[in-house]
This record gives sequence, structure tokens and C-alpha cells, in this order.
Amino acid sequence: MTDLPLYLDYASTTPINKKVLDEMLPYFEDIYGNAASMTHKYGDLAKKAVLKAQSRIANLIVAEAEEIYFTSGATESINLALKGIYQANKKNGNHIITVKTEHKAVLDTCSYLEDVGADITYLDVSKDGLVDLNELKSNIKKTTVLVCIMYVNNETGVIQDVNSIGRICKESNILFFSDATQAFGKLPINVNDQNIDLLCFSGHKIYAPKGVAGLYIKRGIELQMQIHGGGHQNRMRSGSLNVSGIVGLGKASEIAKENMKEEYERIKELRDKLENTLLKQNKICINGSGDKRSPYISNIQLIDQEADDFIMRNRNKIALATGSACNSEIIESSHVLKAMGLNENECNETIRISYGIFSDLSDIQFLLNQV
Ligand SMILES: *Cc1c(COP(=O)(O)O)cnc(C)c1O
Repeated sequence: MTDLPLYLDYASTTPINKKVLDEMLPYFEDIYGNAASMTHKYGDLAKKAVLKAQSRIANLIVAEAEEIYFTSGATESINLALKGIYQANKKNGNHIITVKTEHKAVLDTCSYLEDVGADITYLDVSKDGLVDLNELKSNIKKTTVLVCIMYVNNETGVIQDVNSIGRICKESNILFFSDATQAFGKLPINVNDQNIDLLCFSGHKIYAPKGVAGLYIKRGIELQMQIHGGGHQNRMRSGSLNVSGIVGLGKASEIAKENMKEEYERIKELRDKLENTLLKQNKICINGSGDKRSPYISNIQLIDQEADDFIMRNRNKIALATGSACNSEIIESSHVLKAMGLNENECNETIRISYGIFSDLSDIQFLLNQV
């Protein structure tokens, strides 16, 4: 596989960590019980593995193990959180506040909810990609039941002021759901201090497999289950648990916690090296500038160079994304960049570089030589 291009698209997905895979393997062949089986040792062992994963995940976000629920992806977690909260709170109101720069999984689910009677407010963002907290406050109504604002944007790395948003929601007695798929395992999260009621994350963004993810649901919060059948996981999401995947997600969470600080600094150095060199050469503009940005993602406009041309020219050497991988099949400017005020031309010149575990200085040098 040595002829594969240099991978700089970690925000889209990551390879599985060997340590994660090793811990998963016994759960395919030997310890294959159903975690819901109460009548034998196979079930006990599976259940025990799930509990261990829950506690490792909870540890990473300062939650309780019982507050961690498993799903098939962040997309499913987002569907469960938005539809589940909307349906369970109809007596309190039908208004949800979200933001124009959310992931499509949020925006498409909100659009569906609008079709079935929800009132949704889509907040604007500044040029930097940030939500205006006063605008958030002024859009809260008597009927507002939920605020849904992501932690780190998957295209730009912009970090919203989650602490303040949590405080505003708490003061107004409104639930706060944050899509933390790009923050989980990379930035410190404390769901209690930050007043986060629901938070989603996904295995394949943190070196665990695709198809396993989770949703933190604060104890006591009621939510309408979306996948019916058996009432697994405290009647939040039915279906036999993906035990091996869950073991992987748990292990990946533990590793992420151990390495978080060091890895953050290491990646930040690489990111700064790339961005500062290109800025000095006047070759790029950075979208979502300022320090409220995760170092794991660079969203840069290549001045006077079409992103598609750049990516196609280097296709055999470097794996990169334009705006967002999820939109790649449709030729349409990024909704995130448009919301930040970029024009069509600026959007078309923009690429996303996202760094991860195997990124190093030689990768940065290699990329610099191509721009
Ligand atoms: C990747 C991603 C998702 C979707 O996650 P899946 O597990 O692939 O469904 C949702 N939100 C954000 C911010 C993401 O980066």
C-alpha cells in the first residue's frame, strides 16, 4: 500500500489504531455474546465489555457511564437527539435554535422536523464562523425547547463558545445539544461544567471503526426512541449492541485522553508551520481565523488557484478535501463558507487540510512544495 497518497483528510475519517483493533479482535471470535443475554457467561462478558467502554468514554467528557448510549454513527446520534427531544417535548414547545454552519446531518434533520411541524431558527455566523451570543439570546422564545450548536466545525475547525452557550441555555431552562464529533478526544470536554445536556461523537473520527458512535444523554432527560424493538439501552435505542465496535470506541477514547495534550501541541505546531509559511508567501487566506480554531483542521483559500485543479493535479500524491467531504458528490459551494460570507469564487478556491496521528513535518514540507 506504499503507493497510496499522503493522507491529510483526517476530519473525514481516520485509520483504525492497531491497539484499538487488537482489543476488538477477541470480541469477534471468542467473546461473541449478546450484551443483552442475561442467562449465560457469554452475555455477562459482552455486557462487562460494554460497561468498560461506557466508563472510558464517560471519563473523557466527565460524564457517568450510564449516560453513554451507542449508535451506528454520529449521523444517527444527531437524528436521535433532534427528533427524540422534539417529540418528547411537544407539550413544552416546538422551537429549536441551530446554526447555518452545522453538519448536514443536523441541517437535514431540522429540515425534516420543519416538515412535520417544528419551528426552526438558523442562526447566522460572523466572518470568523462564530455565533453571536446576543443573537442566540434574542432568538429564544417561550416555545424554545432545544439549542443545537456544534462544538468544532468539521470544515473550518472553528470552535464555538460552548461554555457561554451552555450557560445561556441553562439560565433559560432550555436543553443544549452539541455535535462534538470533531472535538471529542481532541479538546477537553466537561459536560457538567459546560452545561451540555446531549453530545454526540463518532468512532471513525478517533481511530476506532466506522459504524460505531455514541450519544451522551444527561441523566433524567426524556427522549423519544427512534429505533424501536426490544427497548435496549434504557429504551433510548433498540437493537443488539455492536460489542466489538463499542470496545474499539472505548479503547480509542482512552488513548485519546492519554495523548490529548501532547497531540494537540504537536498538531498545532504542524498546522502553524504550514499556515504561516503560506501566509508569508501571500499564497493563501485562512477561513475562520483567530485563535478560536481547532488545530486539527486548516480551511484555506488558495489565492487565484481553483481548489479542484489543485486537488486533481495532486490526486496521486496527496489526499485532501474541498469544503467538506460529505458534499463532495454534489458540485455545490460549501454552505459553511457561504454562511461565513465567502463568494462563489472564494469558495471554489478553498481546500480543507486535516491533520492526524501520522502527520509530521515531512508531510507539511511535501505539501508546501506543491502549493
Ligand atoms: C463526521 C461527522 C458527522 C457524521 O458522523 P458519522 O459517524 O460519519 O455519521 C457529524 N458531524 C460532524 C461534525 C462530523 O465531523
